[in-house]
Amino acid sequence: MLGTVILGIGPTRFAAMNLRLYYVKGVPDFVKICPNRSVPAMRMPSAEVVSFDMNGTLTQNHFVEALWGEAVPRLYSQVRGLSLEESKVEVYAEYDKVGERRVEWYDIKYWFRSLGLGDDWRALLESLQHHVRPYSDASYVLQQLGRRHRLVVTSNASAEFIEFELGAARLREYFDSVFSCTSDFGEVKKTPDVYSRVCSSLGVEPEHMIHIGDHLHFDYLAPQELGIRAFYLDRNASGRTEDFVVRSLTEFLDRIASV
Ligand SMILES: [Mg+2]
Repeated sequence: MLGTVILGIGPTRFAAMNLRLYYVKGVPDFVKICPNRSVPAMRMPSAEVVSFDMNGTLTQNHFVEALWGEAVPRLYSQVRGLSLEESKVEVYAEYDKVGERRVEWYDIKYWFRSLGLGDDWRALLESLQHHVRPYSDASYVLQQLGRRHRLVVTSNASAEFIEFELGAARLREYFDSVFSCTSDFGEVKKTPDVYSRVCSSLGVEPEHMIHIGDHLHFDYLAPQELGIRAFYLDRNASGRTEDFVVRSLTEFLDRIASV
């Protein structure tokens, strides 16, 4: 199934070999670009702000997989008196009805209301705290970069998710600001307009911001289009060798050391 990578923040279903696997969502598929595309030489202005994607960049995807794929259906099964398997069928069908192009898809409060799960969504998140796992390089790199730059998060996760995950991962202290394109801007994806609004909020010109994330389109092409210096984090080492590709946050740290 090479060629499709699904990453992100919600209940994306991924069918393979008769298995229904729920993946972290938000990234429908990889945007293909010419593998030989070269990055034009650019002057490197000093960067005031460094922006990070969250899931797949700072934190691993276990938490969102555990939430949407298991915990929400399990709670639904308890409320409705269904078996877990019956519950999964119904809940996954509800996920499909909404789809990832609507902001509700990313909103845990919406799903609690829609599925009749009450209003204590925070308790469910807290019960899954042990699933929140930062990447091993995140804390060190943030600590280093925080000495020289303002650090922010720009994510398509809802504001509730960003705050919860960063807090559980003990990374929140490194960031001046967090931006959710779904909660703050009503957009389901990180478009150039989202990045523009982030820059405006921070009072920084795009050329004075760096962004890094693990989605080629939404973390590299979109910010680059606005003039932000962007890096694509390829943790799976897919073989890409372009100048904008890094394989870890420590490599990213080295690459921008002189910025
Ligand atoms: Mg990501």
